[in-house]
Amino acid sequence: MQQPRWDDPALSAGTMVRGALWLLQVVGVGNTFTKNELRNAFPNISQVDRRIRDLRDYGWVLYTNSEDASLLAEDQRFVKAGAPVWDTKARREAAPQKSVTNKERLAVLQRDSFMCTLCGISGGEEYPDDTLMTAVVAVTRIHTTHLDGSEAQELITECKRCRAGRNDSDSNVTKFIEKGLDLSPSDLRRLLRWAVRGRRGATEIDRVWSAYLRLPVALRQDAVNRLKEGTSASTRDGPASAT
Ligand SMILES: [Zn+2]
Repeated sequence: MQQPRWDDPALSAGTMVRGALWLLQVVGVGNTFTKNELRNAFPNISQVDRRIRDLRDYGWVLYTNSEDASLLAEDQRFVKAGAPVWDTKARREAAPQKSVTNKERLAVLQRDSFMCTLCGISGGEEYPDDTLMTAVVAVTRIHTTHLDGSEAQELITECKRCRAGRNDSDSNVTKFIEKGLDLSPSDLRRLLRWAVRGRRGATEIDRVWSAYLRLPVALRQDAVNRLKEGTSASTRDGPASAT
């Protein structure tokens, strides 16, 4: 289906669909827009901001200044287009999956130690390669294809940045194998387990780091001091974990 013009009066489409077309045709991928620009484009539409946010359920990625600290409070960045929602069939196929209940969300966050299962960052942590970005992790339902070819729907914890890049494929198998062979034997075994499972697991140090990040800031220094004293007092090496 051809992409209709966002302001075509003959287009019978709701605000979310027009908003998607406006993002593509007026804002452009990678650019920012303000709440005022959005309201001016859609005068007399109440809660146009919320209609635009609904696009996230269709794989569209929009950042506010809570995800990208270089943005002003009234700015949003259009990071990535998702499903072509103006095409009824595509929209139906991409329709939001069954929503995640609070109980499911908490169980998945705890299973994944509040870390993105793709890159390992914890919620609220700065990205090592981009300190302006603070990770926001969320639980999403994804389709996974396991190594044996079976398909499953699964809940995973992932950060918004990984979610935005999840579908960018890189077919460099040689680079993957070279990097894999550089791993220590125990890390390589762990990686192979993750590959079978289709998502990473938290390692012991990840779990401890995640527990540290969830300590109130005022208690962290004391906790670190006590940890240092504990390690100097006794050297304990537990068995390697199977995560
Ligand atoms: Zn991530």
